[in-house]
Amino acid sequence: MNKLILAAMGAATFICAAQTRPAPAPKPKLVVMIVVDQFRADYLWRFRADYTGGLKRLAEKGAVFTNAHYEHFPTVTAVGHSTVLSGALPAASGIVGNEWYDRKTGKQITSVSDDTVTTLGVAGRQGASPRNLLVSTVGDELKMSGKGVSKVVGLSIKDRSAILPAGRMADGAYWLDKNSGNFVSSTFYFPELPAWAKTFNEKKAIDQWKGTMDYGKLSDSQYGNDIVELFAEAAIEGENLGRNGGTDLLSVSFSVNDTIGHAKGPDSPEVKEISIRTDKVLARFFDFLDKRLGMQNVLVVLTADHGVAPLPEVMQARRMPGGRMTERVVLDSIQKALSDKYGEAEWILGKSGPSPYLNHKLILDSKLELEEVQQLAAQAVRQLPHIARVFTREELRRGQALNDFVGRRVQNGFFYQRASDLFIVPEPYWLFEAKGTSHGTPWNYDSHVPVIFLGPWFKAGKYNERAAVNDIAPTLSTLLEIEVPSGANGRVLNEALVK
Ligand SMILES: [Zn+2]
Repeated sequence: MNKLILAAMGAATFICAAQTRPAPAPKPKLVVMIVVDQFRADYLWRFRADYTGGLKRLAEKGAVFTNAHYEHFPTVTAVGHSTVLSGALPAASGIVGNEWYDRKTGKQITSVSDDTVTTLGVAGRQGASPRNLLVSTVGDELKMSGKGVSKVVGLSIKDRSAILPAGRMADGAYWLDKNSGNFVSSTFYFPELPAWAKTFNEKKAIDQWKGTMDYGKLSDSQYGNDIVELFAEAAIEGENLGRNGGTDLLSVSFSVNDTIGHAKGPDSPEVKEISIRTDKVLARFFDFLDKRLGMQNVLVVLTADHGVAPLPEVMQARRMPGGRMTERVVLDSIQKALSDKYGEAEWILGKSGPSPYLNHKLILDSKLELEEVQQLAAQAVRQLPHIARVFTREELRRGQALNDFVGRRVQNGFFYQRASDLFIVPEPYWLFEAKGTSHGTPWNYDSHVPVIFLGPWFKAGKYNERAAVNDIAPTLSTLLEIEVPSGANGRVLNEALVK
């Protein structure tokens, strides 16, 4: 054979190989959305050498977005969880905080408060549902797509973390009742708990980690994530997730990282330890998924609902800025300023963090201009030390926040009907807590989280371009060939998708 023929054969082989490239992978049988509560983006790299399980696998085999942020304020649990599968900003979703003052009923409510439903699995608890969520989620869009049967389930220790990612059409959301140790749900979804959930509770399966602790302590302990993982396995078996014909969706939120993080701070050995334990819990979960469904049929997405600030005392030792103030000082200064000017009265009715809800009826009855009262309140707060910015509700209604990333994030968190009268941003590293640490600001240590996709539909690697957590929902919708959730404000992370 001469060289020419050999070359021709080589070319033919090459063309043939190109033509017989494996067909695009079929759609995922199950999408698993994992949210780690309070897991800052740097935790992936900071403890990397100690990860041997699920986080190692995600870091090595996943499409890892290294510069993904939340683009809203406040960066708190309910808002983060409402974003991950809706792609929506609070300005659209209506989830403006963990709690807020409801001007209609005159009551302080949570993101998932619902008086029209009751809790299932334990007696006498106030009901919870996704009714405050005004937009659709990926799960809702799967169900509305007409693409066969899709089941959607959310679970966590916390009610809001189970309910909000799953959405309003979910087959169920489950969270832990810390008194009974039962996973509970809501009559919003069904008249009674499904048999598999009842069985899980009756078996007291989580008692294997309990020792002498009560269930409250247990769920806040290093075993908190083991409990959630065990219940996730039960949900997958009970609802037959991944085997219902269409693409199913399970949202799992691990809460205890947040509990430990608040108490000890990001620089503590305890946060390192719970991160390593999370890596191991995820390894066990992925093994379960692999045995049951085959990991090639599962799309895993991992993110966090917010980051966290370092402890102010640690920062002071580093000669970095930071310190503590109290919500009380902020609210008292507003109350005093308004009383001094307009007379002694109850000027503040409710709050969301340090942000006040002013007494609009009193302002109206006193024939005062709301905007003028807001400005006076804002001025009082601006005079306090270590307050970076104060916005009024009327300024934000007119879109008058400064157009830098801080101003945009505050504006993105603004939903008129549920908004407080002031929005207050402390200087970087300043906290409204007396001890431990927290999150909630628009600063980057609170907004920067991992976004990782794992599965044959994504090209493994590090993607350093700017991304937002809001991009997860449109990316999943595009991959699944379903409608984009109604309020999604993000782009398709096309660079990571296998074409
Ligand atoms: Zn959280």
